[in-house]
Amino acid sequence: MISTTNLLSISSILKDTFGYDTFRPLQREVIENVMARRDTLAVMPTGGGKSLCYQIPSLLFDGLTVVVSPLISLMKDQVEQLRAFGVPALFLNSSLAPQEYQENMDYIKRGEVKLLYVAPETLLTPRILSLLSSLQVDCLTIDEAHCISEWGHDFRPEYRQIIEIRKRFPNAVCLALTATATSRVRQDIRSTLKFTTTNEFIASFNRENLYIEVIRKRDPIGQTIQMLERFKDQSGIIYCFSRKQVDELAAYLASKGYSVRPYHAGLEDSDRRRNQEAFIRDDAQIIVATIAFGMGINKPNVRFVIHFDLPKSIEGYYQEIGRAGRDGLPAHCLLLYSYSDAAKINYFIEQKDGDEKRVAIEHLNAIVRYAEDEMTCRRKPLLNYFGESFQADTCSNCDNCTSAPTALTDITVFAQKFLSCVKRAEEKFGAGHITDILLGSKNEKVLRWEHDKLSTYGIGPELTKKQWMHIARQLMTMGYLKQEGEYHTLSLTARALDALKKREPIFGVVQEAERVRTKGKKKVELEYNHALFALLRQKRKEMADEAGVPPYVIFSDRTLIEMSAYYPQSFASLLNISGVGQAKASQYGDAFLEVIQSYCKKHRLAEIPHPRLREASRGEKGAASPFPNGRGAGGEGELSERTWLVAEAFNEGATIQNLMERHQVTKGTILEHLTKYVMAGNILRNGEDLVSLAAVTAEQKQAAFTAFDELSPTFLKPVFDKLNGTLNYDELKILRMLYLIARQG
Ligand code: ADP
Ligand code: ZN
Repeated sequence: MISTTNLLSISSILKDTFGYDTFRPLQREVIENVMARRDTLAVMPTGGGKSLCYQIPSLLFDGLTVVVSPLISLMKDQVEQLRAFGVPALFLNSSLAPQEYQENMDYIKRGEVKLLYVAPETLLTPRILSLLSSLQVDCLTIDEAHCISEWGHDFRPEYRQIIEIRKRFPNAVCLALTATATSRVRQDIRSTLKFTTTNEFIASFNRENLYIEVIRKRDPIGQTIQMLERFKDQSGIIYCFSRKQVDELAAYLASKGYSVRPYHAGLEDSDRRRNQEAFIRDDAQIIVATIAFGMGINKPNVRFVIHFDLPKSIEGYYQEIGRAGRDGLPAHCLLLYSYSDAAKINYFIEQKDGDEKRVAIEHLNAIVRYAEDEMTCRRKPLLNYFGESFQADTCSNCDNCTSAPTALTDITVFAQKFLSCVKRAEEKFGAGHITDILLGSKNEKVLRWEHDKLSTYGIGPELTKKQWMHIARQLMTMGYLKQEGEYHTLSLTARALDALKKREPIFGVVQEAERVRTKGKKKVELEYNHALFALLRQKRKEMADEAGVPPYVIFSDRTLIEMSAYYPQSFASLLNISGVGQAKASQYGDAFLEVIQSYCKKHRLAEIPHPRLREASRGEKGAASPFPNGRGAGGEGELSERTWLVAEAFNEGATIQNLMERHQVTKGTILEHLTKYVMAGNILRNGEDLVSLAAVTAEQKQAAFTAFDELSPTFLKPVFDKLNGTLNYDELKILRMLYLIARQG
C-alpha cells in the first residue's frame, strides 16, 4: 500500500520542485500506482504530461530510475529541463563523447543521479548492464512503449530485448508510456512486458486547448500569411506534402521577411539539425516541413500548426496537430483542404497494390470525409478514430462548433414575450430598454417609467441581454417589428399583431449564451500585460543563450504570462506562479524579479494577488464583504477574475471609457466591478477619473455622503429615494465609490 507520507510528498514535489499546482488527468493515479510498485501502462496524448509520471517517483525512490527512450535527440532536452528544476538527471547514448560518457558513468556509480535516460541499444551493452547490476534500480520506465509492438507504427526490434533486461532487475517497478496505442498494441505491450497485473491508465485524447479548423484551400499562400499575421512573433509549424513544396514555401515566406526555416529528409543532416535547433531556441519562428518533422521535438509553446496540404491519414494529422499547445495554452490548428490534394494522394496510392493499397485508400477516405464535413464537431470523428466517443454536442473550440449555421428552433415563446413587452411599453422604446424590462432590471430608466409595474417585467430571465437583442434583430428582419426614429423606437407590424392573435409559431436562432466558465473546467486564457511579457521573453532568451539551452528550459510561456498578469514583487510571490519551483526561483528568480519590479515601478503598478492566494484567504475576507449579493460573475462575495482585471487595469491608469470598450460592457457594469473591488477592502487608486465622471455639485455630493452614512452604502434604492431622484443611479454608483474610498482613508 502507498503511505500517506508518499501522497503528501507527491503533491509537494509537484509544487516545490516543478512549481505546478494541479495534476493533469491521470498523472496522480499513475504516480500513485508506480509508488505502490505496481507495473503500469499509461496511455496519454502528446502534451498529456507523461514525463512527470516517472519524474516524481524518481525523486521519491531511494535508488535509480532508468528511462528507456528511442528519441536520442530528446534526451538532452529533457535532461536540461530536469536540471533546471533541480533534478539530478543524466543521459547515456551514442551522441556523447567518450570522456563525457565516462564522467556520466562515474556520477551514476557514485549514486549521485536519480534519473538516467538511455537508448535501448545503449541499455543492452555489457558496459551499462554491469554498471546497473551494481546499483539499486527502483524503476524501469519505457517511454514510447508502442515501439515494442510489431503492430505499432514504429516497431523497434531492440525494444523487445527489454524483456530480458527486466529479469535482471526483478525489484524494479516497470512503467510503460505511450501516446499511441490501439487496443491491440496495448495488449502486445502488456504481454511482451509480462505485466503481472493489468494496471492500465488511458487518458482522454481530447486536447481541449486546440482550436481545430478546416477551410477550403483557395489561395493557400494568402491564407497562410493571414494566419502568420495573426500569430506574429509566435512559434508555428507548416506541414507540406512534398520536399519541393517545403523549399518553395519557405523561400517565399523568407522573401516576405518571415523568420522561417525548411525541414525535410532531403536536407543535409547538419542543416536539418541547425534548422530544428533554431526553431527550438526561438531564433526562427516558423518551420516549414514535411511530416519528417516533429518526432524529436519537445517544444511546448508551438502556437499554431498549418496543414498546407491534405495529410494522408487522420492518425498522422492528429499527431501533427498534437505538437501544438503542449503547454496547455490555446493553440490554432488549420487545415487547408482541396479535393485536388486528395486526388494527388490518390495518384500515389494507385501505384501501390494489395493490402497496402487498400489501407491507404481507407485512410484517405477517412480524412476526406473529415475535411468535408461542415456540420459535426471536429472532435467527434477525430476521437472516434481513436476509439473514444466525444459525448458533448459541441466543443466550442472547433470551426464547426463555433460557426456552423445553427439549425432553426422554435422561438415562438421568446417572440411572444418580446412583442408583448414592446406593446405594453406603448411602442415608445428601443430594444435595449425592452430587454431591460424583460430581464427585470432596476435601472433608473425602468424605474422612472414605472416599467417595473408592467406584466412583462422580469418575465425573460431565461435569456441573456445579448440573446434578447439577437431575438429582437431577427424579429425586425422577419418583419414583426419596425424600428424608427433617432431613438430606434420599436413598434409592432400588422404581421406581429396577427401572429400574436393566432399564436403562430415563429422559428429562428437562439444565440449560444456566452460561455460560462463551468466548474472544474480549466480556464485557458488569462489577460496579461503584453509589454511586460515581451520584456520577460527577452530576458528569458538572453539567459537561455547564455546557458546554451532552449528558452523553455528556463521558464515556459505560461509562467511568463502569469508573471505579466500578477506582477509578483517578491521571492515568495514568485513561488506562487505556475512553473516556478524552488530551484528555478533561486536560479532565475532575481533576474526576472528585477525586470518585473523595474517595469512596475515605472508604470506605477502593484502586485495582484495570485488566485491561489485569493482562494486560500477567501474564507476570511470574502465573507466579510458588505456587498449584498454575488451579482455578476463572482457570487458569494468572492471577487471574479473579471473584477480583478477591471480594477487592476483601472489602477494601472485605464479610464472607465477604455474599460467599457475593452470588455464591451456599460459604464454601470464597470462601476459595479470597481465597487465590488473596493467593498472587498482593496485600494482603488486613480480617483481623479471618478471625480471628473461625477458631474455633481459639492452640495449634491455632500447630501449623498450623508445618505450613505445614514442608510449604508449597500443598497442604492433607499439613497435614490431619499434624494428624491435628484441623482441618477450611475451618479450614485460613482459617489458611492468615492464615499467608500474616502472612508477607507
Ligand atoms: P508528453 O510527454 O505527454 O507529451 P510532457 O511530459 O512533455 O508531455 O508535458 C508537456 C508539458 O506540460 C511540459 O512542458 C510539462 O512541463 C507540462 N506539464 C506536465 N504536467 C503538468 C502539470 N501537472 N501542470 C502544468 N504543466 C504540466
Ligand atoms: Zn467542436
